[in-house]
Amino acid sequence: MTDARIYLSPPDVSDVERKLLLDAFDSNWVAPVGPDLDAFEAQVAELIGVRHAVALSSGTAALHLALMAAGVRRGDTVLVPSFTFAASANAVMYLDARPVFLDSTPDTWNVDPRLVAEELRLRAARGQLPRAVIAVDMYGQCADYEPLLVACDRYGVALIEDAAEALGASYRGRAAGSFGLAGVLSFNGNKIITTGGGGMLVTDDGRIATQARYLATQAREPVPHYEHRAVGHNYRLSNLLAAVGRGQVQRLDELIAARRRTARYYRTALGDLPGLTFMPVADYGTPNWWLTCLLVDAGTFGADRDRIIEHLGRQNIEARPAWKPMHLQPVFRDCVMRGGAVSADLFRRGLCLPSGSALSDHDRERVVAAVRAVAR
Ligand SMILES: *Cc1c(COP(=O)(O)O)cnc(C)c1O
Repeated sequence: MTDARIYLSPPDVSDVERKLLLDAFDSNWVAPVGPDLDAFEAQVAELIGVRHAVALSSGTAALHLALMAAGVRRGDTVLVPSFTFAASANAVMYLDARPVFLDSTPDTWNVDPRLVAEELRLRAARGQLPRAVIAVDMYGQCADYEPLLVACDRYGVALIEDAAEALGASYRGRAAGSFGLAGVLSFNGNKIITTGGGGMLVTDDGRIATQARYLATQAREPVPHYEHRAVGHNYRLSNLLAAVGRGQVQRLDELIAARRRTARYYRTALGDLPGLTFMPVADYGTPNWWLTCLLVDAGTFGADRDRIIEHLGRQNIEARPAWKPMHLQPVFRDCVMRGGAVSADLFRRGLCLPSGSALSDHDRERVVAAVRAVAR
């Protein structure tokens, strides 16, 4: 008999979410409006310490609206880390703008702030400043916002924080999602909290929140008939899903603690193996430990990253390579890239281990045993 499959980062929902969902159902607020939606937004805004939150159908929709808030238009450029999930760059393409990709720093796997500053300096000299910079909080660890904000402020370029993976993380005491013009959260099934699919735009700027809400609800003017002055989108989150989100946020501390336990366990139980290097944790903040990722040096470990993934797969354990950088993606072949060696190496050697908050001790032991079995 084989053990049950261990997934990379499955949803972790409980009776708390179930009750809130059924209460919402019974209330008949089965629509993209309702009291749970309002409560969910208020709860997340308070948690992050921002004035406004707009619940949306996905993190990608939130990125799209955040870029619109930054004024991104056809022909603009937007600086984007190459080492990210495709949604960060796709949202730029939706607006007929072009991403310029930047490499990461090996210290945090996040975008290198020196590359951002340098690219802004060069573009300012040419009179070709980007309309916005997107920073991504990779695998639940914040980017280095102090130098990023200094560089963006110097040239008056908007910063957007893609905190899709980082709810609950912090940077120098400030919550992930609170940096720049607007922050973006995701509640996709594999994220630290889930609504089964959803996202949020968070911001201190009331005009941005109002505009995002307007564009997310088909750009309906506030008159009795259907009046439209702009092309809108259908991007609002359902009230039922917001009810699930309310329960997940209530449990966020517990979910983060569980992932942190797993991260610590992996570090202890695999730390003695030569050839494995865990993703560095910067001293400027606290991650939410969304995924535990490491680099595999095939020579010293005795097997390469792909062999580990294959072996784990045979043990019914899901593990994945780190993100494939955008500058290596066929769809972005024609985009400009600055640097690239770091993100290419993270992709070649990076391994993400099962990190779900419902992982049992037995699950963790299975993962460790399977990784150790491939080691030299
Ligand atoms: C998940 C993710 C997104 C997109 O969020 P969805 O809710 O899946 O649309 C965007 N950026 C990053 C870095 C992500 O990990």
